[in-house]
Amino acid sequence: MSTEEKKEFALDFIREIVADDIKTGKHTNIITRFPPEPNGYIHIGHAKAICLDFGIALENNGECHLRMDDTNPEKENTEYEQSIIGDVRWLGFDFGKHLYYASDYFERMYEYAVQLIKDGKAYVCDLSQEAFKEYRGVPTRPGKESPWRNRPVADSLDLFARMRKGEFPDGSLVVRAKIDMASPNIHMRDPALYRIKRMHHYRHGDKWCIYPTYDFAHCIEDSIEKVTHSLCTLEFEVHRPLYDWILENLGMYRSRQIEFSRLSLSYTVMSKRKLLELVQDGIVDGWDDPRMPTIAGLRRRGYTPSSIREFCRSVGITKYDGVTDVGVLEHSIRTELNKTAPRFLAVLNPVKLVVTNYPEGTVEKIQCVNNPEDPAAGTRVVPFTKELYIERDDFKEEAVKGYFRMAPGAEVRLRYAYIVKCTGCVKDPVTGEVTEVHCTYDPVTTGGNTPDGRKIKGTIHWVSATESIEAEVRLYDRLFSVERLDDIEDGKDFKDFVNKTSKVVIKARVEPSLAGAESGSHCQFERQGYFFIDPVDSVKGKPVFNRIVSLKDAWSKQEPKGAGQGKKA
Ligand code: ATP
Ligand code: MG
Repeated sequence: MSTEEKKEFALDFIREIVADDIKTGKHTNIITRFPPEPNGYIHIGHAKAICLDFGIALENNGECHLRMDDTNPEKENTEYEQSIIGDVRWLGFDFGKHLYYASDYFERMYEYAVQLIKDGKAYVCDLSQEAFKEYRGVPTRPGKESPWRNRPVADSLDLFARMRKGEFPDGSLVVRAKIDMASPNIHMRDPALYRIKRMHHYRHGDKWCIYPTYDFAHCIEDSIEKVTHSLCTLEFEVHRPLYDWILENLGMYRSRQIEFSRLSLSYTVMSKRKLLELVQDGIVDGWDDPRMPTIAGLRRRGYTPSSIREFCRSVGITKYDGVTDVGVLEHSIRTELNKTAPRFLAVLNPVKLVVTNYPEGTVEKIQCVNNPEDPAAGTRVVPFTKELYIERDDFKEEAVKGYFRMAPGAEVRLRYAYIVKCTGCVKDPVTGEVTEVHCTYDPVTTGGNTPDGRKIKGTIHWVSATESIEAEVRLYDRLFSVERLDDIEDGKDFKDFVNKTSKVVIKARVEPSLAGAESGSHCQFERQGYFFIDPVDSVKGKPVFNRIVSLKDAWSKQEPKGAGQGKKA
């Protein structure tokens, strides 16, 4: 078995539970759900939950429901709902006909609350919000019973019906479960099930002025849909006894809640509230800004669905909260694109290189390998001329130890083309800035090969000064400059830690074949990184490039892999 396969076989604790439930015959049809609240765009943390929920259903020939958890309409809207539907599909998951809305169950939830009241298991309480909290107490000391706890069932039923009709102001009454005010679990101390709140619901308008709490609604939603395994993040662990209590006391189908640790990433904020703040304050260019950890942002950056799924698989499912290095995410797209992305020559910070002994006016076709990792990707030709551009960083007036690129007297390989020898440079008399680098080429070194076998340590990339095209390149980097955004000092705002150079827009020179690059496609700029042709701002013949991740410069300091593969066409 390959290591790849072994990884597939290593079941996490949730998959073990599911496998066991199938083995014992407890369940034959596995049903899971992903229940986002349509109050923001979903992010890489949600992707972890999506991969788990849909993954388990797929692996067991079951079904996974996409359910909008639209029970708190204040910040919910259609834009968010539609973005979530699109993002789940884009990630590669199919919910088929199983798209549900928690709000469609409001009538039944109301009836369930009535049932609990009738059974003496819930009551209408008049305590103010402050009193409610005070009576509830703290985990270490028992709470105090509400004076309304033993109000007659008929009174509670009447009040609840009138709450629904809108006879009372917001927050004046709540329906509470009658459980145990002395429970060490604060969530079991007569928790609220229904509140009065006049909010316009984006799907149901003003039909309701009472809304169920998350705790009351969620287990009922799961149960109605016959969800077998309701997977959620660890913060819901303390709510589980209540989840179970409600279903048991309503005599409903018993879905099982299982918790796992949420994904946190270094250099990243993940709370929807904070992401919204970044959008509203104009710190980023919208929910799909390529620096955002949203699915929309990752997609715009150039992440692929498969790289995100692979990332989620690699972080695994555990019960331990921890912070995953954002480098693991970057690694997932780098590894994938290394295999699939065609390579191109592009100079991001150009300085002119004049090959003084090369004939003026000649345009030579240099054959370049499209992807050394994929022979089937073939070759293309790139024009070579007397005047070229190279990276400003690839020239030094004085070479230091270990520097094998362009410096007076030194020989260097121009990728796929020739070995050149640097003869000096021209500088601006006023600023002292290098304006031209000069070199001579060795005509027998076509394809970057040395027939005499002499070793050339450095290889640099180049484009023709006259044949290349100018292109906008957006150099994206991590949005924050601190690793742990949860650990920042009190009084400081997370927005103070935005990385000022997380988006740098430059004009680069790229090889002419890139004029035909398809928007929404990927490429590697040799020695620079992986780039995505921005699907929004690119126009035909004028691509705009988003840097996805930089590349570990693997071949400038050593004999390059594949350097000799380029041939003169
Ligand atoms: P909020 O920030 O409003 O609390 P949320 O991030 O919990 O929202 P929901 O829409 O309620 O977002 O989440 C939908 C599902 O995604 C939940 O089951 C939740 O547990 C899961 N989820 C959310 N964030 C993460 C995360 N960082 N890692 C793993 N799962 C997550
Ligand atoms: Mg939530």
